[in-house]
Amino acid sequence: SALSPIQNRDISYHLHPYTNAVKHAQVGPRVIERGQGIYVYDDQGREYIEGMSGLWSVAVGFNEPRLVRAAADQMGKLPFYHTFSHKTHTPSVELAEKLVQLTKGRMRSAFFTNSGSEANDTVIKMVWYYNNALGRTNKKKIIARNKGYHGVTVASASLTGLAPNHRGFDLPLAQMKHVSCPHWYREGQPGETEEAFATRMAAELETLILEEGPDTVAAFIGEPVMGAGGVIVPPATYWDKIQAVCRKYDVLVVADEVITGFGRLGTMFGSQKFGIEPDIMVLSKQITSSYLPLAAVLLGDKVHSVIARYSGELGTFGHGYTASGHPVATAVALENIRIIEERGLVENAARMGEVLQSSLRALNDHPLVGEVRGTGLIAAVELVADKNTRRPFDPLGKMGAAIFEKAHEHGLIVRGIQDSIAFCPPLIIDEQQVHDMVGRYVDTLEDVRSLAD
Ligand code: PLP
Repeated sequence: SALSPIQNRDISYHLHPYTNAVKHAQVGPRVIERGQGIYVYDDQGREYIEGMSGLWSVAVGFNEPRLVRAAADQMGKLPFYHTFSHKTHTPSVELAEKLVQLTKGRMRSAFFTNSGSEANDTVIKMVWYYNNALGRTNKKKIIARNKGYHGVTVASASLTGLAPNHRGFDLPLAQMKHVSCPHWYREGQPGETEEAFATRMAAELETLILEEGPDTVAAFIGEPVMGAGGVIVPPATYWDKIQAVCRKYDVLVVADEVITGFGRLGTMFGSQKFGIEPDIMVLSKQITSSYLPLAAVLLGDKVHSVIARYSGELGTFGHGYTASGHPVATAVALENIRIIEERGLVENAARMGEVLQSSLRALNDHPLVGEVRGTGLIAAVELVADKNTRRPFDPLGKMGAAIFEKAHEHGLIVRGIQDSIAFCPPLIIDEQQVHDMVGRYVDTLEDVRSLAD
């Protein structure tokens, strides 16, 4: 059908992230106009369950009036001020304090940025500055995982372990190394238990640290549960074993909680669920339900005390953004966190997570379903060409792309990650809506079944 003027103008003038512009013009962009609860509506009035919370991020739903009021009130009072050179404002102070309290004092302070990518860039600079301040000038390498996602700036894209973020950009930077993705279903060896797999993953990390030289390895970074890499839940003992290796070689542990923060796994932070005791924690997305851009780097005492008290020849930690701790964004974050607490959305995520995980696992017998994985309100269903051998489709991703497209016709927005379909609905979702979402997915699956051969 003919494209509308807004679609044509989008195609003419607007270059989109992660989007093939030629295909974009052929497919025709979907214009999303408004949102309500877990639903968004396009300019044709069609309703979609936003099964991905936008980009894993809208915890409280798409029309929360309290966030609108919090933004408007702060806009009317102090729409902008910075936090450089001994200036501050109440919302940024209150949010920093609130975040530290939410970690039950595990973390010591908060540094604000505008995006998860910038936050991870900030982490890298903090880690480097920390070791420089301690006179350990060779201890600079950072180890991340294949399929990890940490953002797209030059340095954070180097931590990301996905080919599209490296190809064409001369990345990763030499200081960034990668170990295997802890995905037992795909990376486990025949007959290997999850426990043995986790042990092997930790041994691989230790081998890499020893090869590189422990005096050159500064930090290990990982998402408690990987999101963009395909919703990968590691074996239960993985994080314990990884942390033991890190502690042995004085390697800082960084938990990238950009997706898992604020209740996604049914606990306030993903670190709680896996017993991670991070030296540095990164938060974004659900911190404001993404109504405004904001991210935070939380420092434990170990790194905080060095950076905050350093007075040597390196000078002050020379880093920060015009909008670090932006008053409107931090005011919205505070109100958003109040809503998450008052409405018990972390507990709701735990309860609805059970419903989501069990209704998706009911698909385990489906001939196309290879693996159902997830915990709390994040999940993925991996489709395979052959259930017994786990053989993927050829070309890889054809079913994921088909389902992503076709799901729109059933009023559902999901993400295809190769042939895994990801679910990450708003934390406000109720039981009937979970069933409705899964039902729309099953209907879509039936539609595309004929493509499987
Ligand atoms: N870290 C994780 C775990 C993410 O999922 C993302 C974004 O999806 C980022 C970092 C990057 O955040 P941003 O897109 O805000 O730069």
